[in-house]
Amino acid sequence: MSRQPRYDVLFEPVKIGPVTAPNRFYAVPHASGMTNAMPRMRAGFRGMKAEGGWGVVCTGYVSVHPTADDSPLPYATLWDENDIRSHAMMTEAVHRHGSLAGIELWHGGGSVSNKTSRLPPLSPSGLSWMPTHVGFMGNQRSKAMDRRDIRDLLRWQAEAAHKAKSAGFDIVYVYAGMGYLPYEFLLPEWNRRTDAYGGAVANRVRLVRELIDVTKDAIGDTCAVALRISLEELRGRASERCASEAHEVVELLADAPDLWDVKMDSSPTDCAPSRFTPEGSHEPIIDFVKKITAKPVVGVGRFTSPDAMVSQIKRGVLDLIGGARPSIADPFLPRKIDEGREQDIRECIGCNICISSWHDGVPVRCTQNPTAGEEWRRDWHPERVAAAGGDATVLVVGGGPAGLECALTLARRGYQVSLAEAAEAFGGRLRFETTLPGLNGWGRVLDWRLGQLRRLGNVTLYAGNELSVDDILGLEHRRVVIATGARWTRMLYSDLELPVGLAEGANVFTPDDVAAGARIDGPIVLFDFDNYYMGGALAQRLAQSGARVTYVTPAGHASAWTIMTNEQPQVHRALAQAGVDLHTLSRLKGFGDGAATIANLFTGEERRLPCRSLVIVGARTARDELYRALVARSEEAAAAGIVSVDRIGDSLVPGAIVHAVYGGHRFARELDLPPGLPIYRRDAPVVDVDPLSYLNGLEESLP
Ligand code: ADP
Ligand code: SF4
Repeated sequence: MSRQPRYDVLFEPVKIGPVTAPNRFYAVPHASGMTNAMPRMRAGFRGMKAEGGWGVVCTGYVSVHPTADDSPLPYATLWDENDIRSHAMMTEAVHRHGSLAGIELWHGGGSVSNKTSRLPPLSPSGLSWMPTHVGFMGNQRSKAMDRRDIRDLLRWQAEAAHKAKSAGFDIVYVYAGMGYLPYEFLLPEWNRRTDAYGGAVANRVRLVRELIDVTKDAIGDTCAVALRISLEELRGRASERCASEAHEVVELLADAPDLWDVKMDSSPTDCAPSRFTPEGSHEPIIDFVKKITAKPVVGVGRFTSPDAMVSQIKRGVLDLIGGARPSIADPFLPRKIDEGREQDIRECIGCNICISSWHDGVPVRCTQNPTAGEEWRRDWHPERVAAAGGDATVLVVGGGPAGLECALTLARRGYQVSLAEAAEAFGGRLRFETTLPGLNGWGRVLDWRLGQLRRLGNVTLYAGNELSVDDILGLEHRRVVIATGARWTRMLYSDLELPVGLAEGANVFTPDDVAAGARIDGPIVLFDFDNYYMGGALAQRLAQSGARVTYVTPAGHASAWTIMTNEQPQVHRALAQAGVDLHTLSRLKGFGDGAATIANLFTGEERRLPCRSLVIVGARTARDELYRALVARSEEAAAAGIVSVDRIGDSLVPGAIVHAVYGGHRFARELDLPPGLPIYRRDAPVVDVDPLSYLNGLEESLP
């Protein structure tokens, strides 16, 4: 197949200062959770995007100096020779495929606490960026930068730019976004300086301009210098000279960088979840930039459709199509468009599990792409799988995310696969969950896999087939994989977090009951200690259907874990809009006689809430009866020619969809591996140069 002519524009080269991007696909800087302690994993992850056709592939944020220490979050460094060698692995991996490598040099300013380096954080006026992410907060605030600090910062940027060039980077960033140091200079709330760096907009942009200038002086002859800037807040501010302060800033710096990389200001708006924000949400903020500057502009919008991308170019919004999440979910997105295989694109679902990995401080995970982060350490390629290690036929029981992914990967490997699903439609938990408010887009997990499975000749799909042990024994498959999911329970926990037994009663429900269409009469109390999306989304849906709903949780927020996926602030907004009453820090004490009793976690103060139906969104347990029954009849199974019976996904360990997809994929990859192999390769930092030799240089550069 060949490329559709209407997408040709996406494959035009774009000149960026002294370098040229081979096409318009630009994998923008984004966190990967891979620090300099994991240079080979990082190179494998970024290099895969280049192999998949992204013309530019960038790092995540890379600290220029120990005063920018974001620990415990997983940030990268470019402080010394070992760091140069560490990053050089990535640039080599990217260049191997003809792409450009970009590096996002970063100083966190007053947003970091320097928990490891223990140096004073720096900021324009001694006012720190107060993280609302409570778990990340430090209690060390920042020092107001004096002129010497500013000179030092400019020197650190220039030195880091030299190192970046030595490491082989083609595009070097100045990063003035998302609460970090240069951004703090742009906003008068943080920047209360009365010198040449504070006051009027022209003064507030001075530091950014100087950072660009020193970077250009350092490496601008051979490397492009990009400015990454957040424009959301500035766009909302009136300017005497221009349409907004954002316009004024862009006008003042119009030709300073070789490339504008434009974005939003906070993680929940920049990396917005699909549950609350549609694709292309940055456009109303950044649409003006190209009208002011003649330099190329890159921006993002969770674009996965080539038509939407072409529209951005044709309408003069962007020159380069930035992708962070779409490039994680499908590193081969550009290649697939180039080869006329748009239907094969594994579209990002906007669940933000990837961003939760960064918040967790671990290598990136992706719901749609189980190979993300595993390119080097497990040698998993997103588009290639090893041929089947035998001619076994495999029966996969259960067509949820785990079963679908497992069946697909086994079939891609060449196994003869049957996938049986009890329900009339495939999808497992997705069948119900995609009907919850905002979660329709998650259906891509099912749609992509089913679409791929239907095109393979060696798969038979049986929907509407609830299999028993006898059925399985009679089906003549060599291997059986159970993917029968999990169920929600009515289990309650004590104040000491001990599981204390099930909530009894006719009007006690779980999400499974709601999914099955049970009548849930109001007033409803929904008690959520699962803390991910289900409780909040279900409360929203029940309230929207007209019932009076009270949401109760022992956590401090509704859907507390969704802080990790950037959804949490909007969960509260959605619950308020739906008219849901909220009781946090509360435990359920009892239910009966038309009321539920809850108690404050700390004071024990009790409160009675009107309640005809109690919905418990708490613990899940594996639906593994079929597995256990089969294992109990293993002699009969062996006699029937079955050589293995295994469990995957929620029927093995209940988890989020990302875990089920990953579990299904891993099982299919490893089905025929010999036992005893190492689980995966362990990465290690580059230490070619004795760390002690840095001591003198480091001491000199300390403030
Ligand atoms: P996971 O997330 O692990 O994929 P799900 O709960 O999403 O789990 O999906 C499990 C699927 O297994 C459900 O669609 C369910 O209908 C199906 N299932 C459960 N038991 C059987 C069975 N005996 N035969 C066929 N399908 C089954
Ligand atoms: Fe997209 Fe979710 Fe994958 Fe992130 S984890 S890239 S949001 S599908």
